[in-house]
Order: sequence, then C-alpha cells, then structure tokens
Amino acid sequence: MQGYIIDIKSVKDDDLIVSILTETQIYTTYRFYGARHSNINIGYKIDFELESTLRSTIPRLKDVIQLGSPWIFENEKLYCWQRYIKLFYIHLKEIEKIDSFYFLLLDKLSHKLIKQSPKRAICKNYLKLLKYEGRLRTDFNCLLCEREITSNISLVRSFMPVHSSCTYSRVFEFSKIKGLFEDKNLISFEDDEIDYLWNIILQGL
Ligand SMILES: [Zn+2]
Repeated sequence: MQGYIIDIKSVKDDDLIVSILTETQIYTTYRFYGARHSNINIGYKIDFELESTLRSTIPRLKDVIQLGSPWIFENEKLYCWQRYIKLFYIHLKEIEKIDSFYFLLLDKLSHKLIKQSPKRAICKNYLKLLKYEGRLRTDFNCLLCEREITSNISLVRSFMPVHSSCTYSRVFEFSKIKGLFEDKNLISFEDDEIDYLWNIILQGL
C-alpha cells in the first residue's frame, strides 16, 4: 500500500505512532524502534505493509520503502511541503475513511513541486481543496457583515472573503482575488502577497 506520512509522534523507547494518508483511509500505525528500519519523516511518500497484532489495536508498520520525490533535497520545498501536509492531519483528524481526492491532491502537488515555487504551488493546491469541500466563497459575501464585496477585499482564515473595512487587514484588489478564486490565477500576485496567502493557510486548512 502507498501513502503519505502526515504525522509522527514519539512514544516510549523511541517507538513511533505514525499516521499515514492513503487513497482510501488514514491509518494510525505503530513502529517499533529497532534495527534495519528505513528512515521516515513527515511528508514522505512510502510503500508499506501493516501487521495486526493481538496485543494492540494499532497495527504495526512494516516493510517501509520511501518513494522519493525529485525535490526532497531542496530545503524550501521540503519545508513548505511538510508544513502543509501536517495541516492535513489536523484537518482530517478523527476521520478514518476518506475520499481518494486528498491522496490524489497531494500526488498532484508533489508533481507540481518539481518545477514550481512551493508557496505558489501550495496556494493553488489549497484552492482545489476549498473548492472540493464547498468552502470556496465565490459569491464574495463578507463573512462578517454578510454584504457583497465589490471593491477592497481582504481574506481571513480558510480564504474567507471580508470587506477590508470590516477587518482592517491587508487589502487586495477585488479583481485579483476574483481571478484567484475563479481561475486559480496567481500570476498577478507579488511574492509578498503569496507569503501573506501562505501564512493564512498555516492558520489551518
Ligand atoms: Zn463586511
């Protein structure tokens, strides 16, 4: 089976609880510390097997093979990827069965990272997630006053649109945000604006 490691927690004696997002499910697994283990880390795509034991309700993680990405040694890409993928663990917490959308979304992003700048690629990827979950507010009604936004627009958590005058946060041109939401168009965004959007994503999916 293949999946992405979305969380790792240390438990006693350097054993680990490893959460893995696959096409159909999020698995919580147990990895014993010991010899001949391949190196694992948050964000790695792995091929693995699970072994159920009578002693525990959590299956044992075994036969792990890391499926490398071409960008894995590029620090900024790996850093951004890991920050983003950790948010999936929080976002999908308590959920076991999942739609293949999430796994395929991460697959697509991993591929885009080969050529694209990580924050831009992740912003685009996040817009797909919002759209899929029906949370992309293309009606442009302000989250706070519920009136339509036609000019100065700001974004808060989950890219929820608000009037700039309702939040006093960073102002964007309405047409740019409209292009972003409707066409995932990031070309007109400066790097500092991308940083701003990236920081909104880090508040949580
Ligand atoms: Zn408002």
